[in-house]
Amino acid sequence: MKIRMKTPLVEIDGDEMTRILWGEIKEKLILPFVDLKTEYYDLGLKNREETKDAVTVQSAEAIKKYGVGVKCATITPNAERVKEYSLSSMWKSPNGTIRAILDGTVFRSPVLSDGISPIVTCWKKPITIARHAYGDVYSGVEAYVPEGGKVELLLPDGTKKLIKELKGGGIIQATHNTDASIKAFARSCFNFALEIKQDLWFSSKDTISKIYDHRFKDIFAEIFAAEYAARFEKAGISYFYTLIDDAVARVMRSEGGFIWACKNYDGDVMSDMLATAFGSLAMMTSVLVSPDGNFEYEAAHGTVTRHYYKHLKGEETSTNPVATIFAWTGALKKRGEIDGLKDLSAFADKLEKATLSTIESGKMTKDLAALFNKEGVTVSPLNTFEFLKAVADIM
Ligand code: NAP
Ligand code: MG
Repeated sequence: MKIRMKTPLVEIDGDEMTRILWGEIKEKLILPFVDLKTEYYDLGLKNREETKDAVTVQSAEAIKKYGVGVKCATITPNAERVKEYSLSSMWKSPNGTIRAILDGTVFRSPVLSDGISPIVTCWKKPITIARHAYGDVYSGVEAYVPEGGKVELLLPDGTKKLIKELKGGGIIQATHNTDASIKAFARSCFNFALEIKQDLWFSSKDTISKIYDHRFKDIFAEIFAAEYAARFEKAGISYFYTLIDDAVARVMRSEGGFIWACKNYDGDVMSDMLATAFGSLAMMTSVLVSPDGNFEYEAAHGTVTRHYYKHLKGEETSTNPVATIFAWTGALKKRGEIDGLKDLSAFADKLEKATLSTIESGKMTKDLAALFNKEGVTVSPLNTFEFLKAVADIM
């Protein structure tokens, strides 16, 4: 008897090699065991073009309606893609569109496997980065002032603040953030910490940025005290604020096992550092948590274009499906938890364990084979489909 579901999972299909993985994961690892109920949205670039990107908005609305979604990697079109797919418009990044509708925070965590050691030898547990995905330099306004001159900030109440009397050519930049977005960021982080029962760290540079970064620090502190302190205590976890440079030093000496909330730029940079130090981008999972409690799971990597073109030519590929498998298991587990379906959550756990056991037994894709080192285990690099079959064989 297959495992039954109650509420549909929002299934968001995507592009290229990850679309191939998507179909294979469903067919070999999920459909034989679960009577899968999904509401399907095809965000493959062809269908985004055909629907004038309406399908992207619909998929985000569906996550709002049902609460949980799983998303395949998708192409963010650039000029080349516009030609390749004869697009009528350079459609926006689907992740950007979905994020704007759900308004959340992206949490990225590495999948750890025995035999693949983090480059930082004291890291024993995953470190999750929570990146604020709004504002700061990403929506900065910049100018080059070649002749110099007096540069001022004009505030809505008419007051002016002198930025600099530039004596010669110079550059300026104005960035912003909003109370609403910072509050949503803080609540998403506190909720996620309670969800996975791990300590939350938040870092910024409030000693230098006494108004801007300090506002982040204050909002986090106020919301924590008013809404979360008691729940954190009950869950046995803590909230810790420190300066970004101190946080970096502590992270490098830690054994992991916590969430590190970062401002937009810090999170962008630090998540790439963490992904690399933990092993591989193909082992990073990502979940978008909205402040009103919707969840969207995905892999942190892209559509693996290079592998896809090899696949189209009939050549062998060795694309790592782990992050995409974990996107599915994360979403199914969450669906199981919300709907009270213990067998669905247990299935997701079993699939994760089978995936890790396969790797730990020496069977893995090429990207991991290059990193793997476990005494007594001989590594056999497999192609994409052999690896999925090896996981299915022990399910
Ligand atoms: P990518 O798809 O992440 O791939 C970059 C390289 O990383 C690959 O060529 C491959 O290296 C390695 N890699 C990534 N995932 C892998 C996996 N699962 N298994 C094995 N190796 C893996 O990034 P990209 O090539 O910059 O972007 C391709 C497309 O993806 C773009 O159109 C971009 O817009 C889109 N994208 C989407 C998302 C998303 O939807 N979340 C995120 C990022 C990018 P080797 O070639 O050396 O084997
Ligand atoms: Mg980056």
